[in-house]
Amino acid sequence: MKSLGSIRRDFAPWNDPNAKPYIQFDKVTKKFGDFTAVNNLSLTIFEREFFALLGASGCGKSTLLRMLAGFEQPTAGRILLDGQDLRGIPPYRRPVNMMFQSYALFPHMTVEKNIAFGLKQEGMPASDIEKRVAEMLRLVKLEQFAKRKPHQLSGGQRQRVALARSVAKRPKVLLLDEPLGALDKKLREETQFELMDLQQELGLTFVVVTHDQEEAMTMADRIAIMDKGEVVQVATPAEIYEAPTSRFVAHFVGNVNMFEGKVAERAANTTRITGATGAQIVVENAADAANGADIVFAIRPEKIKVSSKKPADAVNALQGEVYDVAYLGDMTVYHIKLDDGQIVRASALNASRVTEDPLTWNDRAWVSFRPDAGVVLTR
Ligand code: ATP
Repeated sequence: MKSLGSIRRDFAPWNDPNAKPYIQFDKVTKKFGDFTAVNNLSLTIFEREFFALLGASGCGKSTLLRMLAGFEQPTAGRILLDGQDLRGIPPYRRPVNMMFQSYALFPHMTVEKNIAFGLKQEGMPASDIEKRVAEMLRLVKLEQFAKRKPHQLSGGQRQRVALARSVAKRPKVLLLDEPLGALDKKLREETQFELMDLQQELGLTFVVVTHDQEEAMTMADRIAIMDKGEVVQVATPAEIYEAPTSRFVAHFVGNVNMFEGKVAERAANTTRITGATGAQIVVENAADAANGADIVFAIRPEKIKVSSKKPADAVNALQGEVYDVAYLGDMTVYHIKLDDGQIVRASALNASRVTEDPLTWNDRAWVSFRPDAGVVLTR
């Protein structure tokens, strides 16, 4: 079965017209003076969803999160949680908790005291606190570190204490603002999987803010891509990557080649496109592009095949020469300068240890791709 779906096969409430939204941003605007940080934004998040807000610095993602937590008030619009308007409800009375970076731990308290702190403040009986802390320590796999202080832990362990502390009160929604920003790459990857496991086990709704596309792609059920206070696309990671709806999104996530052109002819399933310099390609997935329209054909590097001879069965094949080659171990990246001057990036997985068709600098080469390998974008 072909699919551009979510990783969690049975979880896709956004496709169910009867599913009840859990968090709703309804035409929300936030202004700071005359600067608009969030602009008339509407967004729906479902219960138990792992939702990511992804965008460049300053696009308004933290502001959105802070409004949900109650640290900022919208200038206009409404935010609803489980059907209830959150206006006027202070942060501590919302079933929402924000996880702060690990440096917000109390340095003089042990791990278990750090985790217990919020529960004690809430007036939970001591025996219940003990049970809850033990459960949290097990969840984040820090049982043997209960008596240590934060400075006696590694960065990753401290991050897990911060996480345990923020879910100890069992909030319904956990908000995470760049949660793994302080960790190095390897630890960040491990922690991403731990966060996903934890979210599943606790059955919570997570909303995470990040500017790291890989992080969002790894963890989220759906991603909202933001630009200048607006949401430009909301979709699963696979849809964002394989079916971006605009040049902005195609560029923002992953590497992409863009062919400028005009629609020359539309048929039932295929569309012929004439490139700026006259070369023609045949593509599917042309959506609503009309005859004669100026469009861009976007195609990812791994969907392009590079070869020394023209593949016999290729629908789309363009000739050029090898401009750059980079051997990266797991794959090889080629830059091919087409005869019309455009440089195309193609990547080939090194699935075997030797290559049948070695290509090097200045070799003549063909790039070829299937009609369904990319998408036509009109905006
Ligand atoms: P980053 O990844 O850098 O944190 P972001 O997408 O989370 O970026 P926000 O923190 O939401 O961005 O800020 C959005 C815009 O609003 C920025 O231009 C910021 O300077 C501005 N802004 C945020 N808070 C305030 C404030 N209290 N007063 C004035 N301007 C603010």
